[in-house]
Amino acid sequence: MQVELSDIECKALLTRLLGGKLPDEHGRFGPFGGRYAPETLMPALERLEAGVMKYLTDPEFIAELGRELETWVGRPTPLAHARSLSALWGAEVYLKREDMAHTGAHKINNALGQALLAKKFGAQQVIAETGAGQHGVATAAACARVGIPCVVYMGAVDIERQAPNVDRMIQLGAKVVAVESGDRTLRAAIDEAFRNWVADPEGSYYLLGSAVGPHPYPYLVRELQTVIGREAKKQLAIMTGGLPDVAIACIGGGSNAIGLFHPFLGDDKVQLVGVEAGGRGPGLGENSATLATGTPGVLHGCYSMLLHDENGQVQETHSVSAGLDYPGVGPEHSLLKIIGRVTYISATDQEALAALQECCAAEGVLPALESAHALAGAKVWAQENPGKRILIGLSGRGDKDMPTLSKQA
Ligand SMILES: *Cc1c(COP(=O)(O)O)cnc(C)c1O
Repeated sequence: MQVELSDIECKALLTRLLGGKLPDEHGRFGPFGGRYAPETLMPALERLEAGVMKYLTDPEFIAELGRELETWVGRPTPLAHARSLSALWGAEVYLKREDMAHTGAHKINNALGQALLAKKFGAQQVIAETGAGQHGVATAAACARVGIPCVVYMGAVDIERQAPNVDRMIQLGAKVVAVESGDRTLRAAIDEAFRNWVADPEGSYYLLGSAVGPHPYPYLVRELQTVIGREAKKQLAIMTGGLPDVAIACIGGGSNAIGLFHPFLGDDKVQLVGVEAGGRGPGLGENSATLATGTPGVLHGCYSMLLHDENGQVQETHSVSAGLDYPGVGPEHSLLKIIGRVTYISATDQEALAALQECCAAEGVLPALESAHALAGAKVWAQENPGKRILIGLSGRGDKDMPTLSKQA
């Protein structure tokens, strides 16, 4: 099934989104989003929604979050003019340096905000799931800071593949539970985390790591990540006196991208480009370019674009970057795609690796492999649009990717 909308419907949806009317009272972004969860979890999701609406508009909570973002996360992160990349690409390139945030990526913005919420809710523990371990590390750190116990579910296969991140989580005080069921990777870990949340929805707070899942998570995570775009917009205005011609970010679940894009949605002169993982190529199972090749369906509590076959079986995915290797995508991105406000492209493993090396050599910055997809997409955009001002969301640092990079060399 494909979703088709007329121009008038697209405009109306964008107006509602800009007016703060989406997600609607059913947690929907147009046709996408919603809350597809077991009955037993509905009360917990409703409590979460009520709490989110209360605290995200509470000046005291906002002030506390702001203080922690400044003194513990290290915000605002810098906006850097990339002089050499600008010269090489024939463009004016600016990097929003989320790699400079505590624990090395944008994920901490969300983990900290939700850990503070969990504390306010009086939860006895935070539960989370992680694939590559980046969200697990951010969550473990935030829970230590806020003072709340943390349990991270992780597939047994991933625990082996991501040993350094497992050690970091343990050092930061988290309990890491190996999931031996199912595919023993992220999908099994998500199922296990949900099971444990269902068992104790009052005492536990489920800390989701991207702009996906049942309502209100896509909204909550977006609100906690828009700090990226708000800062970048202000910083760029100070440095250049204007707006970017384009803002570009990589898309896994879509949290860093929605955080960068959201403050620019109403600026119709600013193009927005999301870059998905093109993996080894366009074949089924060879990539995780959900918006480019997926069709709508339900995954992890949410109706959105999805990589699945005609029987509804979720596809295996591939990307050189673990953080983009996910068969779904946040519902707000699915909406932004069908109304045409954001363009979604993909970069292959090889293009991302080349962009990573170029950024290292030219700028002295080792980006995460995820972020390298944004760089690769930006380079292509620059070639097609010479001389323009490009804002790139550099979502994280690449130190964690050294084992992969050493293997390639
Ligand atoms: C996890 C991760 C991503 C992908 O997640 P989004 O929710 O799409 O932002 C991108 N970059 C880095 C550095 C990550 O760790």
